[in-house]
Amino acid sequence: MDFLTEGELYQNVLQNVDKAGKLIEINENALERLKYPRRAITVSVPVRMDNNKIKTFTGYRVQHNQTLGPFKGGLRFHQDVNISEVAALSALMTYKNSLLNLPLGGAKGGITIDPKTLTESEMQRLTRSFTSELGPFIGPDKDIPAPDVGTSSQTMAWMLDTYSTEFGFAQTGVVTGKPVEIGGSHGRDSATGLGVIFVSEKALSVQNKKMEDSTIAIQGFGKVGLHAANEAFKLNAKVVAVSDVSGGVYNKNGLNIPDLINYSFKNGSIKGYPEAETISNDELLALDVDILSPCALDNAINKSNMENVRAKIIVEGANGPVTSEATSYLHEKGIMVVPDILANGGGVVVSYFEWVQDIVWLFWSAEEVRDKLKTIMYRSFDTVWDFSQNSKKDMRISAMAVSLQRLEKAMKLRGLAW
Ligand code: GLU
Repeated sequence: MDFLTEGELYQNVLQNVDKAGKLIEINENALERLKYPRRAITVSVPVRMDNNKIKTFTGYRVQHNQTLGPFKGGLRFHQDVNISEVAALSALMTYKNSLLNLPLGGAKGGITIDPKTLTESEMQRLTRSFTSELGPFIGPDKDIPAPDVGTSSQTMAWMLDTYSTEFGFAQTGVVTGKPVEIGGSHGRDSATGLGVIFVSEKALSVQNKKMEDSTIAIQGFGKVGLHAANEAFKLNAKVVAVSDVSGGVYNKNGLNIPDLINYSFKNGSIKGYPEAETISNDELLALDVDILSPCALDNAINKSNMENVRAKIIVEGANGPVTSEATSYLHEKGIMVVPDILANGGGVVVSYFEWVQDIVWLFWSAEEVRDKLKTIMYRSFDTVWDFSQNSKKDMRISAMAVSLQRLEKAMKLRGLAW
């Protein structure tokens, strides 16, 4: 299993699992099983490119744990995807789903590819080819993929179609994060960003602060960051800075987020937005704000830049953006880090809602989805916060401890840990 766990992200995850496991005195056999994935699938993904030549890409699906229910987790298309990173992310899905009390296990997948280098039709063929290769391993009761970095509702629509071909009728439950027109849920696109803001509200409230009096900086302006920024703006917070791959923009009086979204859609990025100053990604991470939310990739705040952080609260919109070492350092300095498995859980919560709606063929309104999401995010925050107050541990260890306790209990009941 070393090749799966050797990456930095997996090592970070294991450190947290060990610390939290020790704290709750978890059964050591349960812990051993919860550390490593159940299986890791590697496939070659042949694609006919527009120039008629076949090119082969590498794809992965790592199925970590299914004690609580079917494997569940996103698919990432990114040039840095590797098996260890996917494995670490699959483990995080297990812990996230348990923490949120969802009847789902954990998995993750991906293809090592820069999606920007493919045309739309190549992307469709890549997705279909990958789905065919994964066909024997996924399914509505087995393993349910969803969007992640570099994939979208369109990716899920192609997957649904490819997977369904074999059955002769639509298998809507095989993926979540689909467009609403073909069995998707209202509110799935914005769910992760919304969840980030719901837990931010809670994190502020335990410090006797309110959203409307706070300043926020958000790293990333994609599937998570854009919606988080928009929601914070709607709640009258001052979103002073955001960034995307082209760099950052800053306005001390607060950015007009709907206007910035329009600008970014028109121009392909936020670069050159006239109502703001340009800042670098490093400068954004060092801003003196109430909330800093890294919503891009892992390892954004690490040993090399943790000393520059001046935010009061960090809310992890991405998976693994603050390393284990940086978390300990920031906690010592009195900075609260709301960990990924809690903070970015909104996406998989609404994925769960989508899966349920597909089973019963009864669809909920956007308001219902929002209310139910808020209830779960608030409740999960409270549980982790209470644990951290009682144990005097940071929020990352506390979230992991709550998650492991639930998994341990389920494993004991199933006779998997003794
Ligand atoms: N990719 C998202 C995550 O990391 C969502 C997973 C899902 O909806 O299954 O939580």
